[in-house]
Amino acid sequence: MDNNKIIDGKFISNQIREKIKFFGNKLIEKTGKKPGLAVVLVGENPASRVYVKNKIEKTNEVGFNSIEHRLDENVSEEKLLDLVNLLNNDSNVQGILVQLPLPKHIDSDKVLDTILPVKDVDGFHAENVGKLWSGLNSLVPCTPLGCSILLKKISPDLSGKKAVIIGRSNIVGKPMASLLLSMNATVTIAHSRTKNIEQLVKSADVLVAAVGIPEMVKGDWIKENAIVIDVGINRIEREGKRVLVGDVDYEECLNNASKITPVPGGVGPMTIACLLLNTLLTSYLQFNEDPIELSSFLE
Ligand code: NDP
Repeated sequence: MDNNKIIDGKFISNQIREKIKFFGNKLIEKTGKKPGLAVVLVGENPASRVYVKNKIEKTNEVGFNSIEHRLDENVSEEKLLDLVNLLNNDSNVQGILVQLPLPKHIDSDKVLDTILPVKDVDGFHAENVGKLWSGLNSLVPCTPLGCSILLKKISPDLSGKKAVIIGRSNIVGKPMASLLLSMNATVTIAHSRTKNIEQLVKSADVLVAAVGIPEMVKGDWIKENAIVIDVGINRIEREGKRVLVGDVDYEECLNNASKITPVPGGVGPMTIACLLLNTLLTSYLQFNEDPIELSSFLE
């Protein structure tokens, strides 16, 4: 196996978290205030519980305050909105994350749009979405931000390159398209109604797969020397064991790709690092300090 091809998201995310700790400590020394991240979990979804636990652990590790709120599965939308408003007004809270998915009786869009845009560390508020597409400074959704940092480390300018994204969710596919455009790529988004996805992928210099179908992208779909970013996290049974695989067939795609993210250890750890990065960036803003440039985290 050619190790030079592997984009080591675990290593890169560790580096980023070290820098976050460094800049966080500087901020705490200067202002006497600690960045605080509030995480709201509704219900008992096992995957959500694991994600929240990891987020809280990593928040504490970089020296920020984590504030956890667990609400019952049957909590009313009104009660949840009251909590979000309380956190909006709490000066010890710089970032608010409401773990998705929410129970069906709650309108997720309404909840996300109640979070103050400046505290919206997931970058899902309509104001942040609009700013991202307008090329203005905003909080950017963590997973695509993590993918763009990995890409910038490999190839900061994608002028003349064709990028294909599979998936058009608000969480990954759409913001990824905006970030790739800002890197000057020519961008195509594919989704469940797209015809001939294989042909489309074969033309891509950069592929971002965010579908949720285990190993959908096969080795012979990958153009020679393409960069492959696999966002997928799928749990499957293989040889009697539960394993995690991505949306691309990693072993097959390794052949043609010039660079590829593994699953696990690729995009996943970048997502949490970018949540902390967003919390840090908005804390600098809320504590009225000069902003930090994202480029500080690319070195
Ligand atoms: P969604 O289910 O919200 O979106 C999936 C997208 O894939 C949709 O746009 C859908 O199209 C498209 N799609 C579904 N089937 C096909 C198909 N056969 N051909 C082409 N496109 C198809 O998922 P997310 O965007 O939230 O997540 C995608 C994957 O990324 C999942 O595996 C998820 O677990 C993972 N993920 C990983 C994260 C990480 O930190 N690494 C963070 C977030 C997600 P349509 O719109 O037409 O329905």
